[in-house]
Amino acid sequence: MTAPGSDDDSTPRDASSEPTAMPWLVEPLRRALVTQRAHALLIHGPGNVGQFELALALAKGWLCEQADLPLGERPCGRCPSCRLHAARSHPDLLVLVPEALRESLGWEQGGESDEGEGSRKKPSKEIRVEAVRAAIAFATTTSARGRGKFVVVHPAERMNDVAANAFLKTLEEPAGDARFLLCSAAPDDLLPTIRSRCQQVALAIPPHAAAEAWLVQLGVAEPAVLLAAAGGQPQEAAARAASGLDAAAWLALPRRVAQGDASALQGWPLPLAVEALQKVCHDALCLACGGAPRYFPRDRLAQDASLAALLRWSRELARVAVEAEHPWAVDLAIESLVEQGREALKTPRSQHREARGLSLNSRR
Ligand SMILES: [Zn+2]
Repeated sequence: MTAPGSDDDSTPRDASSEPTAMPWLVEPLRRALVTQRAHALLIHGPGNVGQFELALALAKGWLCEQADLPLGERPCGRCPSCRLHAARSHPDLLVLVPEALRESLGWEQGGESDEGEGSRKKPSKEIRVEAVRAAIAFATTTSARGRGKFVVVHPAERMNDVAANAFLKTLEEPAGDARFLLCSAAPDDLLPTIRSRCQQVALAIPPHAAAEAWLVQLGVAEPAVLLAAAGGQPQEAAARAASGLDAAAWLALPRRVAQGDASALQGWPLPLAVEALQKVCHDALCLACGGAPRYFPRDRLAQDASLAALLRWSRELARVAVEAEHPWAVDLAIESLVEQGREALKTPRSQHREARGLSLNSRR
């Protein structure tokens, strides 16, 4: 486990009493604590809706040493085990996350690193086989505090092929009394053999009111707009707010794209810019087909864009999205995609004309 970070709190609290706790996890946590007995759980849901937080809270609850508290009311937040968990130094919990995610969580590089010694290249976005092997070794040793051992894997679909196969062997032939908690927003990307060996805990997009209340607690202004921008995923909305996206800028995006104003996305990492344009395109397509938009209010969108031009833009956005991690000339790529968006959003259905088909390939 890593050393304690900013939450080196001498009075750790129950996860459900944290000011930033996610209220929609309270009932799934209680239910899972009481009913789940499997040695491997797959906690999945659409996007990030608290899979990781639920897995950590479950491990905390099962490790909690407050024996006079019913299981469904744990973790207590006060016992020695809960304090160790809060300090991220519990000897019976191992959290396996890609190095890149560890950095974004603000966790120090520590014992459960998924990187080999001396690899200080770009942080990996994968969970590698060395990390899985270390987790398997951890799982086979005796529990230090006598309440079993827990391995949280997040996001489980980030295990590369070799890592996933090594992990599968452990699920097939469990050694010791360790329990595995896999978190995923894309369970279909897991090996079917891993999926089938896990009990599944499904989380849904939380109710808007609960999500908005949580965002308000975090100090997010205009939470309804950012929540819609994030497709209802509150953690995504919070992350966007933290990275500087404000509601007015989001609401203005479709209009600015329709005007060919690429400066609306200036400074955005390409994957996020492409995703934002995909949302503009998605909603314009919904309107063009008579459906309801999802990410923007209806009155912010082009009302009569050409379906064919939107579909062409959509295909190009999907193509770039696949390669968005590549070292593009980001500004040029965004300009090109916005220009195609301008064409698509401005093309009246009645006078459809061929989009100019700007090629990103020629602009790298
Ligand atoms: Zn406790």
